Amino acid sequence: MMRAVTIVGGGLAGLSLGVALSQRGIKVQVWEAGALPRHRVCGEFICGVEQQTLECLGVASELSDALVHRRATWYDANGRKIFAGELPKKALGLSRFALDLRLVEKIRRLGGEVLLGERWRGDATNEAVVVASGRTAERTPWMGFKLHIAGELPPDLTLFLGPGGYVGLCPVEGGQWNLCGLFRKRPEVRAGKEEILRSYAEAAGMGPVEEILSRCTVEGGSAAGVAGVSFSLPRGVATELRLGDAWGVIPPFTGNGMSIAFESAELALNPIVRWFRGGFSWDEVVREVEQRHRKRFNQRFRVANLVHPLLMNPRSLGALGYLSRARLLPFRWLFGLTR
Ligand SMILES: Cc1cc2nc3c(=O)[nH]c(=O)nc-3n(C[C@H](O)[C@H](O)[C@H](O)COP(=O)(O)OP(=O)(O)OC[C@H]3O[C@@H](n4cnc5c(N)ncnc54)[C@H](O)[C@@H]3O)c2cc1C
Repeated sequence: MMRAVTIVGGGLAGLSLGVALSQRGIKVQVWEAGALPRHRVCGEFICGVEQQTLECLGVASELSDALVHRRATWYDANGRKIFAGELPKKALGLSRFALDLRLVEKIRRLGGEVLLGERWRGDATNEAVVVASGRTAERTPWMGFKLHIAGELPPDLTLFLGPGGYVGLCPVEGGQWNLCGLFRKRPEVRAGKEEILRSYAEAAGMGPVEEILSRCTVEGGSAAGVAGVSFSLPRGVATELRLGDAWGVIPPFTGNGMSIAFESAELALNPIVRWFRGGFSWDEVVREVEQRHRKRFNQRFRVANLVHPLLMNPRSLGALGYLSRARLLPFRWLFGLTR
């Protein structure tokens, strides 16, 4: 009987692996609990992914019209510039709404199956099951919110840092900008879906974000929110094949989570193909993919987790601003370590 792969989760890790396996003649069944396309909490800038990875996965054409961003500017909560300059590597801007849909359609065109609105409830340690189900919500203080907006806005990537949170602004397709923030939870802040990001920015004293929201139009239906975001590396011995955020969640200021989802799918591809051809047992695939993940991502996660709290502390932000203005901030070096 022909071997088939069950992929749990229709995010970037699951969908890109689904495309790559389908292109190699391997039958896939992707399970996605939610509806697609949908607006997801994500900064929507893809930073660090190599063209070679996108081509290996067979998803390069789905990203070929993404906006290319080469510059970034960072501001503190008062609108003081902390950093402005060229990104060492280009970043791509495309909404998840568009990208996810393109990948679903591609898998279907290639003969794979994508089940939408279907939650998979099987045993993830079984042979041929790939867990790409994203991060698990934990009891953490981190909340994420996003909106698509339109108006007179900067053409490059912008990051607003403030006490208890940060907000990224990224141009995406269709003359829109994605505004997405990660905040420390404030139980006293209550607002409707479309107002919550503004309310959190206000509570965090992020004047520039409030100002942007006061003069831009919000795309109806684009608001999304998540709670219980955690940043951790996996612990213990792997018994399941986990990819993307299901393996580990990197702090979002890096703009590297989506790249990790693609890279993760790429790291799993050859071992799964070997299994399909009878050269590997499934246990060997799980072990091999885990080792590859640790080798590729451990340092990135450690550095990002060290920098993350510094970006929300007024003292360290002041020091970062000073170092940057004195041209002493090793931005390119830090950038390289977190991607
Ligand atoms: C506030 C915030 C901002 C971010 N900004 C950026 C950014 O600018 N750039 C960047 O690169 N990354 C960013 N990220 C991270 C990025 O969004 C993720 O790293 C990326 O989406 C991970 O992809 P994934 O495929 O692993 O998981 P997901 O995209 O989360 O997909 C997992 C899917 O699995 C489904 N699922 C779960 N359980 C089941 C089940 N049992 N059965 C079926 N389906 C299931 C879920 O519905 C979900 O659709 C940000 C994250 C946050 C929280």
